[in-house]
Amino acid sequence: MRPAARLLTLAPALLLLASCGLAGPGPRETSMDAAGADTFEQDVATARTLTEAFWKDRFARQGLAYRPISAFIPYDGRSGPRCGDESPVPNNAFYCPAGHFIAFDRVWMEALREEMGDGSVYLIIPHEFGHAVQAQLRTEFELNVQVELQADCYAGGTLSALVESGQLIAQPGDADELLLSLEAAGDPTDDWLDPSAHGTAEQRQAAFTTGYENGVGAC
Ligand SMILES: [Zn+2]
Repeated sequence: MRPAARLLTLAPALLLLASCGLAGPGPRETSMDAAGADTFEQDVATARTLTEAFWKDRFARQGLAYRPISAFIPYDGRSGPRCGDESPVPNNAFYCPAGHFIAFDRVWMEALREEMGDGSVYLIIPHEFGHAVQAQLRTEFELNVQVELQADCYAGGTLSALVESGQLIAQPGDADELLLSLEAAGDPTDDWLDPSAHGTAEQRQAAFTTGYENGVGAC
């Protein structure tokens, strides 16, 4: 296990959360803390390791066996793996149920991290693992927005658990930045029948906060 990673700017990640399965919005201007000591690759590896360890433990406590993802695949632009009939798109991260893997455009993610801080990595990856958990629990939803809001909630619950255990260190002001970013990442309208809907700003903030404050069990 790596030493505690620094959660610097939580803001950027939420923009990414808006885009899983879709081309996301471009990077946004924001203030940036001093860069952490870890490299991009280390942050990505740490986020994956800590998130899967969290869920493995969580499943075990409930008498369930967590099934690790089969692959964790960085790609460039359109060079990523297909998921069923769907081609990968640039500027995205996604979980593929068909192959039980997570893939992400590393150029895009690294650019976000460079511009806004490493918090992006520590939010995007737990959100995508949230989808991997949904698949294992066979959680049924009627609407895509429900799937996405639960993944936001799972990301919040995962991050708070990692902070509470000392594996991640949150910086003062991160919570406010997070809520502002969720606001920016929200859908412009509450079109909950839209198959690509991720939820409005208020819905995403509420979902993430529920998980962060009450744990993944509240999701
Ligand atoms: Zn998602």
